[in-house]
Amino acid sequence: MTQTFEVRNPATERVLREVELTSAERTDAAIERAHAALPAWRAVAPGDRARLLRRFADAVDADVENLARLEVANSGHTIGNARWEAGNVRDVLHYYAAAPERLIGKQIPVPGGVNVTFAEPLGVVGVIVPWNFPMPIAGWGFAPALAAGNTVVLKPAELTPLTALRLAELAREAGIPEDVFQVLPGKGGVVGQRFVEHPLVRKVVFTGSTEVGRRIMAGCAAQVKRVTLELGGKNANIVFADADLERAAATAPYGVFDNAGQDCCARSRILVQASVYDRFLELLEPAVKGVVVGDPSHESTEMGPLISAEHRERVRAYLPDDANVAFRGSAPDGAGYWFPPTVVTPRSATDPLVTDEIFGPIVAVVPFADEAEAVAMANDTAYGLSGSIWTRDVGRALRVSRGVEAGNLSVNSHASVRYWTPFGGFKQSGLGRELGPDAVEAFTEVKNVFISTEEQ
Ligand code: NAD
Repeated sequence: MTQTFEVRNPATERVLREVELTSAERTDAAIERAHAALPAWRAVAPGDRARLLRRFADAVDADVENLARLEVANSGHTIGNARWEAGNVRDVLHYYAAAPERLIGKQIPVPGGVNVTFAEPLGVVGVIVPWNFPMPIAGWGFAPALAAGNTVVLKPAELTPLTALRLAELAREAGIPEDVFQVLPGKGGVVGQRFVEHPLVRKVVFTGSTEVGRRIMAGCAAQVKRVTLELGGKNANIVFADADLERAAATAPYGVFDNAGQDCCARSRILVQASVYDRFLELLEPAVKGVVVGDPSHESTEMGPLISAEHRERVRAYLPDDANVAFRGSAPDGAGYWFPPTVVTPRSATDPLVTDEIFGPIVAVVPFADEAEAVAMANDTAYGLSGSIWTRDVGRALRVSRGVEAGNLSVNSHASVRYWTPFGGFKQSGLGRELGPDAVEAFTEVKNVFISTEEQ
């Protein structure tokens, strides 16, 4: 019997659509079709593959408003963010459309012959996507994978499949063959698990929690399957006394409460130099209380709801009482999985509020004495994804950037993602890099061929 899943609007709790969950058997059949589609997709001339990706990008561009509205309804993202996310898929497709014609091998001088290398596609690539950024994270996997001549099976998160299903329709409209890019909504333990186990899937690109990522890596090890992992984060926003404190405080809410804190790059620890700690909290309070929380389809809304009732319970459990709460913003009453932006000031560095990835709108503000302590505190975590450094001292900005063990740092800014630059984590935040000029190579295998020039 076919199983279905009720997809809800987290701002209203209303059911939007019933989506069919793909079974293990149908996942295997899709993987086999993706495998069968490889020779024809590989044979598409590089310029033609580039044109197909550009047509896909154009189809996304024409559909940005529709995709954005779907994401607002399905994920509770603010309309402004959702437009950016759909636009990011378009941009990433355009960026990697340049790759097929530039995927070149090398000729290496060797004695006795000619040696050439080829950048071969891997085969079928399985992309597993979390619920927090359904569109961009899908695009970061499928765009470079398709550009390199692979076929793709993609599993969106159970809670947020709607934009991925629409992207599959747009790919078909653009002329990408149906079996070259397939979207399979379903459960992680079924569809995702088959990506890991099926020998015809040659690489798994996983974005999600560190806990599941670890299991995927262990599962892939059985076949020495290639894997890229983008996992959790507990990122530090380090504010030095010499920083532009007004700007640091005014932008800090964006750095952590964007997407209601459901962001692997959320700066959920603000480390503030002790000499300006009280002043920083004074400046932060009105900024946090001013965050506009509410209907995500309104143009002026800055923060929407959490993704589900279950997730809100998980976030709530971090604050059994108000003991650690310094202040909080507002959130609507009534239907919807709302949670106010909340600032906590725990006394101990081992408090779960300081150590755990809460993945909700709670930020811990903690004092530090000097530069060495700031770096030590920033690194006192198993994660290493992103972070911010606020200072006017260029030397310090560079020293601290080199000292913090994280893949994506920004100085006097909270931006983490620019598709031209590599994105990924140190330590338990992941393995490998997405985006940037080198991402396509992660979807190829180097083949080395020697041709003897000796007389036969
Ligand atoms: P999750 O790990 O629960 O699920 C992620 C995806 O994996 C979903 O599609 C899920 O169905 C699937 N999955 C679950 N169990 C599986 C299994 N056994 N085998 C195969 N697939 C399985 O994560 P989530 O709750 O959807 O997302 C939140 C997490 O994602 C956070 O930890 C966040 O930090 C992380 N994240 C990381 C990045 C990054 O780029 N580093 C980006 C976004 C989110």
